[in-house]
Amino acid sequence: MRYHILTLFPEMVLQGLHTSIIGRAADRGIISLEAVNIRDYADNEYGKIDDYPYGGGAGMVMQAEPVYRAYQAVADRLSTKPRVLHMTPQGQVFTQQMAQEFAKEEDLIFLCGHYEGIDERVLEEIVTDHVSIGDYVLTGGELPAMVMIDAISRMVPGVLSNQESAQFDSFSDGLLEYPQYSRPQEWHGRQVPEILLSGHHANVERWRQEQSWLRTQERRPDLLEKNQKIQRTEKGGE
Ligand code: SAM
Repeated sequence: MRYHILTLFPEMVLQGLHTSIIGRAADRGIISLEAVNIRDYADNEYGKIDDYPYGGGAGMVMQAEPVYRAYQAVADRLSTKPRVLHMTPQGQVFTQQMAQEFAKEEDLIFLCGHYEGIDERVLEEIVTDHVSIGDYVLTGGELPAMVMIDAISRMVPGVLSNQESAQFDSFSDGLLEYPQYSRPQEWHGRQVPEILLSGHHANVERWRQEQSWLRTQERRPDLLEKNQKIQRTEKGGE
């Protein structure tokens, strides 16, 4: 997987991602991270890439041409037209399923906005997916890009070791994960559930499934409703 991030703050993205598991995956060549500074594609010597919005209003807008040139500098080097993910609070909210889908791509371009956003015309021309990380507004698209790259990379074969397996993670089966415990057996008077000490794998598995369901019901009942809806639709479609 090759990530290309179009941004005004390349150092922020690279520093953030070159740590821990994702940083190791980059060092091992399983993923690659390229940050392209949109300012380098400004058509003036000051590196100015924003201007006032037509029609008036607060803030500045990132201009179409420097964004387009930064995109082309990447796209020209690739053999196929890559997916271009525009980070925006107006996009589809990112999910684990989307992470799994994006992980199948060889190249992904992330377009990070700033200020009031990006001139609509270049978005119409290059963007394939508008993606949000939630219903709130951040100052820039860098953190959303980092969040998505982290989640997508976990789905890329070889990034996680067996020990870090994503198999039972929350959302992998539409449920939240069961609670986890480690040593010591007693902490602040709280005991590890007896069943986890039993060594009886089938019972442990049953307990975990039950906990997973209870936790989802308690914290995210909307996920259970969504699953039921999907099942009903699948049955109706048969
Ligand atoms: N004026 C825009 C609007 O109301 O939709 C918000 C612009 S925001 C201040 C600046 C940039 O931050 C956006 O262009 C986008 O790249 C990024 N951004 C902010 N919130 C985001 C979110 N929830 N998900 C993804 N990107 C976001």
